[in-house]
Amino acid sequence: MNWGGIRQESAESIWRCAAPKKGNFFAWLLIKGRIKVRVVLLRQNIVDDERCPFGCKERETTEHFALNCGRTIQILALLGINLTSCEKLTNIFDTARERCPPQKKKAWTLVITAALWSTWFARNRNVFDDVDIPVHIVAKQCIDTCKLWTLRAKHREKASIQHWLADWTVQFPYSVCFCFSSRCYLSL
Ligand SMILES: [Zn+2]
Repeated sequence: MNWGGIRQESAESIWRCAAPKKGNFFAWLLIKGRIKVRVVLLRQNIVDDERCPFGCKERETTEHFALNCGRTIQILALLGINLTSCEKLTNIFDTARERCPPQKKKAWTLVITAALWSTWFARNRNVFDDVDIPVHIVAKQCIDTCKLWTLRAKHREKASIQHWLADWTVQFPYSVCFCFSSRCYLSL
C-alpha cells in the first residue's frame, strides 16, 4: 500500500469495502495495471495479438479495458455509471466517487468493483470459452454480485447500496433474459 513512503490514495477504500477479498484483490491489481490483459500476455509471449478481443482495434491495456473499451462503457452505462472522464486508473476509486450522488457514495467502491469484476469475467468467457455474454446480462450479473456482497456490508455502506439497488430495480425489472440469442449466457 506504500511505495517509497507514498501511500496509494485508493488503498483504504479498496481494502475496506465489503467486497470479498478476491474482489478487493482484483480492484487492487486493476489500479496497479496488473490484470492479465493482452498487452501483458503479449509481453509474456502467451498471445501474439495485443488487440482488444471485442474488435475495438485498440491495444488491450488495463486502461482500455476499464476506461475506454466500448463494451465496458456500454455495460457501465446500463448500470448508470460513467468513467469516461477518468484520466487514469486510480481516478476510478477517488475522482469518480466524488461525482456520485451523496447517498450513493458510500457504496461506490463496492459497486464499481462488482461492475468491473463482472465485466472482466465476461471478457474471459469470451476469450477462453468463446461465449458471448450480452451486455445487459453482464449488467444483471453485476447487480446479483452486489446483492451477494451486500450481505457483508455494514451500516452506511449497506444503506448506500440500497439506493443503487432501488434504481436498478426500475431498470432491470426482469430476472430472465429476452435476448433470444442462441449464444446467450443464460441459454448455455
Ligand atoms: Zn475494447
